[in-house]
Amino acid sequence: MGTNTKYIFITGGVLSSLGKGIASASLGLLLKERGHSVTIAKFDPYINVDPGTMNPFQHGEVYVTNDGAETDLDLGHYERFLNISLSKENNATTGQIYYEVINKERQGKYLGKTVQVIPHITDEIKRRMTTFDGKYDVVIIEVGGTVGDIESLPFLEADRQICLERGRANTLNIHLTYVPFIKSAGELKTKPTQHSVKTLMEYGVQPDILLCRSEYKLNKDIRSKIALFCNVAEDSVIEALDVETIYEVPLAFRRRSLDEIVCRKLGLESEKPKMSNWTRFVQRVKNPSDEVRIGFVGKYTQYRDAYKSIIESITHAGAVANVVPQIQWIDSEQISEENGPELMQGIHGLLVAPGFGTRGVEGKINAIRHVREQKIPFLGICLGMQCAVIEYARNVCGLKNANSGEFARTDENVIDLMPDQQGIVNKGGTMRLGAYPCRLRPRSKAREAYRKDIVHERHRHRYEVNNEYRDMLEDKGMIISGISPDNRLVEMIELRDHPWFVGSQFHPEFESHAVKGHPLFINFIKAAIAFKEES
Ligand code: GLN
Repeated sequence: MGTNTKYIFITGGVLSSLGKGIASASLGLLLKERGHSVTIAKFDPYINVDPGTMNPFQHGEVYVTNDGAETDLDLGHYERFLNISLSKENNATTGQIYYEVINKERQGKYLGKTVQVIPHITDEIKRRMTTFDGKYDVVIIEVGGTVGDIESLPFLEADRQICLERGRANTLNIHLTYVPFIKSAGELKTKPTQHSVKTLMEYGVQPDILLCRSEYKLNKDIRSKIALFCNVAEDSVIEALDVETIYEVPLAFRRRSLDEIVCRKLGLESEKPKMSNWTRFVQRVKNPSDEVRIGFVGKYTQYRDAYKSIIESITHAGAVANVVPQIQWIDSEQISEENGPELMQGIHGLLVAPGFGTRGVEGKINAIRHVREQKIPFLGICLGMQCAVIEYARNVCGLKNANSGEFARTDENVIDLMPDQQGIVNKGGTMRLGAYPCRLRPRSKAREAYRKDIVHERHRHRYEVNNEYRDMLEDKGMIISGISPDNRLVEMIELRDHPWFVGSQFHPEFESHAVKGHPLFINFIKAAIAFKEES
């Protein structure tokens, strides 16, 4: 047994979208910067086994961990803020928990007992919540959903039991709530918070700290009132005002001494966090010296959560290059050969997003042709790279029917399933998922960006570059700049006669961290700056 692990539960009240994920990541960062080892896990109330098969419109991006779990996008915030690598243990859904319990029941492991929500489901939740015992000083558990939802009940029950078993010195409950300003009354209203805490207390969970999201400052009177009605110490009613960028939240919490209060309550001894790198990063995000325009081609341009990690990676890289990247959203379904140049007018770089299904693919291919010919910097991710290969095969190598096997069966499927994958029908968890090694070609743009020979990057796709066409592509000037060490899988491509045209079969956006940035995104943004300066 290692350290005595402390558990912090973060629940949300009143309404969704208050930023529980950012709050958890921000607290995690402060505790980490104080020298504690920290991990964060998210428990999601939905019945899907993982978000892998969920529509990005509804659920946002699917975040992929190194070990290949398809998880909630909040794990992306945790990794980006804390600069850590999480695994499948850091995300659980109601679906997974029931799946496990029902499987055990079928195997006869409950010895004829009636299998019930309490204790069997809650025990499985507790087992997963406490799986980090002894491995970290602090485990932050974000409970998905809003207090009062039927689905989150078993998670709150597990929270209550863990607090009871381990005692107040080892557990802490933080509740994120909303204090609205009612214009006609000219007042901030505490009633929604009171009701939310009341509901939480009906389940036996007494919050120790309230984080109150609000557009206006909470004065002392309001805080005293909330404290009194919610049975929380006055210094533990903390305002969480709106900020310009999510990366400011840790600094705002720090100013309100959140980390100090947490450490005091949990008996964790540590110095104040330094936060100097983080502060510098935030300053760069907020006060850049210049800007570049990045065209972003995707099919969910109305719903930005679908591209969360890519957008954040662009921000991180902008901070390194000291520019603010302005994103010009381009709906892939709107791009034709004729209107492409107009839609891409004024951009200094083009990013073509990952995706599934045939919708918008021809638009992506048209956009890529334009930037290839106009020598505008290009970064293609996963499907974005596959489209770049199709475009090259069609328009440079003369294979008129070039396509991906995902969209059309032709005699020129330059992108296809590997022979051993043909015939797969199950939709969940059947992709190449998680981190794989990639060997970079000497003197390529990829090698120049990473400054390493071997990198590990995360995947989430079924299709690959068809090896039968490798020689043809290379003969015509495409460089295979990243390849699996066994030489079987094309991982990266670029072009010889182009200032910066790079595609990756993997998703670099899952390896970009706030204060660090990702080499491919950094060099892409730098190429965009160079393009801007020349034009
Ligand atoms: N649909 C493509 C494939 O499965 C690309 C996936 C992606 O862009 N993540 O190979």
